[in-house]
Amino acid sequence: MGSRIQLAQCTPDQAKVPDVEPGGISSFLAPTTPVEGLYVHVPFCRHRCHYCDFFTIAGREDAFDAYVDRLKSEIRASASCIQGPLQTVFIGGGTPTILPPKLLAEVLQEIRSALPVASDCEWSVEANPETVTPEIAAALADGGVTRVSLGAQSFQPERLKALERRHDPATVERSLQRLRSAGIDELSLDLIFAIPGQTLAQWESDLDIAVGLGIRHLSAYSLIYEQGTPLTRRRDRGEVAPIPEDLEAAMFEHAIRRLDAEGMRHYEVSNWAIPGSECRHNLLYWRNQDWWPIGPGASGHVQGIRWKNVPRLGLYLEGQGLPPVTRPEQLDEDGRIGEAFMMGLRLLQGIPVQRLESLLACGDRSGARRRAIEGHVADGHLIMDAVSLRFTPRGLMVADSIMVDLL
Ligand code: SF4
Repeated sequence: MGSRIQLAQCTPDQAKVPDVEPGGISSFLAPTTPVEGLYVHVPFCRHRCHYCDFFTIAGREDAFDAYVDRLKSEIRASASCIQGPLQTVFIGGGTPTILPPKLLAEVLQEIRSALPVASDCEWSVEANPETVTPEIAAALADGGVTRVSLGAQSFQPERLKALERRHDPATVERSLQRLRSAGIDELSLDLIFAIPGQTLAQWESDLDIAVGLGIRHLSAYSLIYEQGTPLTRRRDRGEVAPIPEDLEAAMFEHAIRRLDAEGMRHYEVSNWAIPGSECRHNLLYWRNQDWWPIGPGASGHVQGIRWKNVPRLGLYLEGQGLPPVTRPEQLDEDGRIGEAFMMGLRLLQGIPVQRLESLLACGDRSGARRRAIEGHVADGHLIMDAVSLRFTPRGLMVADSIMVDLL
């Protein structure tokens, strides 16, 4: 779908995959491990958008049946590794709702029957507006899905064209209606701003339309020119002009004001929710908790180890059970502390003082981090008080560069 939290960043299927561990992840972990979340990657899309750097493939409808069979085998094999109860299940992509309803239902059923899922588990699915038929909405609702995140991106046909998104903006409202009729009320929209050619007035209109649709959650990401994407190559050739930085900042500021006025709480740098409708699965990423990956290209994090299932459909389909993974990475203490700063600061409530003190008590860069924090507090980009360390509204505008200082 293109959301920035997604953890299945792309290695194109044809590309060389480095350092594959053919035996899977099980030899790197304790036999069964407590895991809070599950991420399932569906790597198929109707078209590969030129800004996307996720692991996705277009035009492989012929592989859907084999992919779902293979996925079910991986789900069953994961059961012996996962100690639940799983609090969240997130099916992302790619475009999960490109799968026929029957196959989507099989995936949901296999997870429910094979894995230790909590009775109040959050079940999220990403969808593209043009794929939400009444049958898909029914398959999701019947399969126990509680939350759908819809990739609207923009309500301006010209801006959708600039992104190479192919849906008609009117399909967003129709999809939401279908999902609500099926009984799914926790609905989120993804929007993108800083699209080439976009004006502030167009962005204001996108937000007005989005909040007018009665959604409970909204993700707004600025367009990123990711390395290696066709969009970035077009920019480098001068064929695409990014919008000015001050316009991008004005768009972000407007989103903060507009959504606040609508009663949506800004809880993460790029995410807003009616209180109680925050995405529990994504919170798990930002809190550095543990989640298990399923599907080719899906990334996981358990016991301080990060790994990715090999992002190649052909290699994935060849096997059974747990798939080969790219070399697992165990961060050292300093790396873990840097990551805790990076993820913790993304939440608007910030890093609680007690946690902050324990993070600053160790690590090779402790002194440098303390100095960086003092500098950013003096600049008015961070607040440190008796409660937490967190961004000021001005700091949010330059959040990425501040987080890099604390890595
Ligand atoms: S719909 Fe486009 S942006 Fe979303 S995952 Fe597919 S290719 Fe990427």
